[in-house]
Amino acid sequence: MEDLERKVLVVDDNAEFAGMVRRLLESQGYRVSIAATGNLAMERVISDTPHVILLDLKLPDIPGMEVLQRIKSIKPDIAIIILTGYGGEQVAVDFMKAGAMDFLSKPVDKDLLLKAIKNAFKIKEMQADDLKWDRQPSLEKFFPFLAHEIRNPLHAIGGALAIINRRSDPKDQVLGESIKIIQEEVEHLNEFVQECLDFVRPPAKSRFIEVQVNDALSTVISIVSHMFEGLSRKVDVTLDLDPALPRILANYEEIKQAFVNIVKNAFESMTDGGEFAVRTRANPNPPPGTVIIEFKDQGIGIKKDTHQYLFRPFFTTKLRGTGLGLAICRRIVMERHDGNIRVESEWGKGTTVTVELPVGPT
Ligand code: ADP
Ligand code: MG
Repeated sequence: MEDLERKVLVVDDNAEFAGMVRRLLESQGYRVSIAATGNLAMERVISDTPHVILLDLKLPDIPGMEVLQRIKSIKPDIAIIILTGYGGEQVAVDFMKAGAMDFLSKPVDKDLLLKAIKNAFKIKEMQADDLKWDRQPSLEKFFPFLAHEIRNPLHAIGGALAIINRRSDPKDQVLGESIKIIQEEVEHLNEFVQECLDFVRPPAKSRFIEVQVNDALSTVISIVSHMFEGLSRKVDVTLDLDPALPRILANYEEIKQAFVNIVKNAFESMTDGGEFAVRTRANPNPPPGTVIIEFKDQGIGIKKDTHQYLFRPFFTTKLRGTGLGLAICRRIVMERHDGNIRVESEWGKGTTVTVELPVGPT
């Protein structure tokens, strides 16, 4: 950024709220100016040259959308974060389409506000560096709406297909197979949307409870074995679970999901069958220690030149893969639980995924 100062313009006619935001942002080193109307906002855009604008949609003089469009037309580089009232998410989508970078719902959580501002500056810096613009922040907001748009027609297709299926001549093999293809594709799309949703889902104020990892693993193995009915007969699963394993503080659903993703990959890699060993052990250091889980398969393994991409969203070597499984794992294990995940593999021999989770609160 040409300016060393990070300047934010807060456009809101609620003086109390604007003052609160100003104090909050100034305490973090931002330079803040305030405009109580759309017209004042336009003036400040010229006089104060802000980098980021926090724009409330309900202004006394000009509609929020018009303010946004006017600012964008004279200063397209300014990052605009819009503030909406409760339930304004649908409206927010229109604003995102019109060029807003992000949106926040009122009442605004201070941490979320700071995070959004920080993100906006980060993206601006990336743009300034002429790096490829990582649209993830808005993708994360957008995707749930997009998912809705994809799922509704999918449900309709599935329903209509069931009717066609019932009425079709059971002797007509070509028709039967065609119906099956559509069903499988619909299912695949549904799963894809679900995985994308899991990936972009904002960090829920997660419920951390005491989790017995051994039990979670047994549950996961049985879930995945059911998913791969035919294959699971060829895969020989062995569990070596440390009976003295301490419970960990974790979000049970998330941990289970991370394990499912890892075990699914192991099964998918062992199309010819083989041994799949899951081992747990406790590591007491540093206190209160960690729990180490090792997933060792005898599948096809991973080529050296792809190792670096494994955790990257959408990286897949599978015909029907989403490439989100490990990206989700990493997010859950490292970001949400302060743990570690590591993949070791030899092409043709097999893969070992090791997860380490802290026992104590994170
Ligand atoms: P997906 O399973 O949809 O491809 P993932 O993120 O789960 O996405 O995995 C990304 C890639 O990592 C896979 O496509 C595969 O190439 C590789 N991979 C992950 N786990 C294993 C494993 N156990 N054995 C072999 N390859 C694996
Ligand atoms: Mg996977």
